[in-house]
Amino acid sequence: MFAIRTSHVLCFIFSCSQSLASLGNFWHITDLHWDPTYKVTDNPEQVCASNGARPVTNAGKFGDYLCDSPWDLINSSIYAMKDILPDPDFIVWTGDDTPHVPNEQLSEEEVLSIIGNLTHIIKLVFPGTKVYSALGNHDYHPKSQLPPEQNNIYARTAQLWQDWLEPESRLTFRTGGYYTEELLNRTGYRVLVLNTNLYYDQNKLTESVEDPAGQFSWANQILTSAARNNEKKKRNKPWFRSNFNRRYLELIQRHHGVIAGQFFGHHHTDSFRMFYSSNGSPTSVMFLTPGVTPWKTTLPGVTDGANNPGIRVFEYDTSTLLVQDMVTYYLNLTRANAARGRWEKEYRLSEAFQVPDASPSSMHRVLGRVAADRCHLQRYYDYNSVSYDLSACDAACRADHVCAIREVDFARYERCLEREGAAALSHTPMTPLLLSAAFSLLLASY
Ligand SMILES: [Zn+2]
Repeated sequence: MFAIRTSHVLCFIFSCSQSLASLGNFWHITDLHWDPTYKVTDNPEQVCASNGARPVTNAGKFGDYLCDSPWDLINSSIYAMKDILPDPDFIVWTGDDTPHVPNEQLSEEEVLSIIGNLTHIIKLVFPGTKVYSALGNHDYHPKSQLPPEQNNIYARTAQLWQDWLEPESRLTFRTGGYYTEELLNRTGYRVLVLNTNLYYDQNKLTESVEDPAGQFSWANQILTSAARNNEKKKRNKPWFRSNFNRRYLELIQRHHGVIAGQFFGHHHTDSFRMFYSSNGSPTSVMFLTPGVTPWKTTLPGVTDGANNPGIRVFEYDTSTLLVQDMVTYYLNLTRANAARGRWEKEYRLSEAFQVPDASPSSMHRVLGRVAADRCHLQRYYDYNSVSYDLSACDAACRADHVCAIREVDFARYERCLEREGAAALSHTPMTPLLLSAAFSLLLASY
């Protein structure tokens, strides 16, 4: 089951202002998954709690593909951001802070302490920078059970993030884990951060709730008034239950005119999702930013779902909020552990896929190239795991990826797989790499 893998989302709404186009930029970081138990030791069973009982035989200072992030990797990634782009307009942080361990090995206090430590280092390194932060499905205890109502974790996280949140945002965050504010206090530009964990298929608390925490009607209202004001937005989302998925798609389809783009984490891999109008023209793009944790999934059927740690800069038009380009930086973990490797540029979208920008029509063109051209397919595939898995992407692999990008709707995705002749092949589609589920939406209004 491959669904809308969206998780932490970010959405921009913008207005068609007449001002001169100028380029802004922001960082997007996600899925840090700090494992405080990580240590370099010769005992393969003792390296990290997140190894899922897999022996870790060659653990290094910056982590291991079988483990979540050690503090050295977290520290290294945040300082790499500071080195590469010290003064971004803002930072988008889409959560998933805790390690992949059974619930029994964590507690509410530990989850809050991990969120607190990560919040602290981001604030320390970027003291004056606005951060739009969202919760992932791992940022709750027990994991994925984020409630559609007030609770201790929402309340205490709102406190941890109080320097980043406007007073009104703190209120809605405390009740449902979502909020909206003007983007950088600019009149006419708005950010919407959604808690899409409420729609996650692992969340038992919201399964039979019509509109968990009233978020759909709230978002619909914000987007409606944004549309009325000629605004645009960007966003991103997770693994939804199918009814929520449909509802989310409807929300997007109804309001795509004001959506400038979408950003999210949760998949740990690098990809994107296309949204089309009923007549087939591309209307919106969801960008999936790779995670910092290199952790290889323990999901059954996935043979090698690890990735190198990645972080990303988005460049956008400050008047329209449309994404102009994106640059992904990464740490080759093997090299870093062996010889103090460093963070380096992996690729720039416009260079790698020869498009002028990251607009829906350009990304549609990228998809076309990935689908039709072997070289572009392989390039996409290499980047998908942040240059970790450099094996060849075969026909089944191609169908999985192309269909995942093209069809956000569950049923249409299945039909796409059949059409591409991959459904009969026994292999696990990309689903495994979507691991958490938070969602934030950024929008700018007028
Ligand atoms: Zn995650």
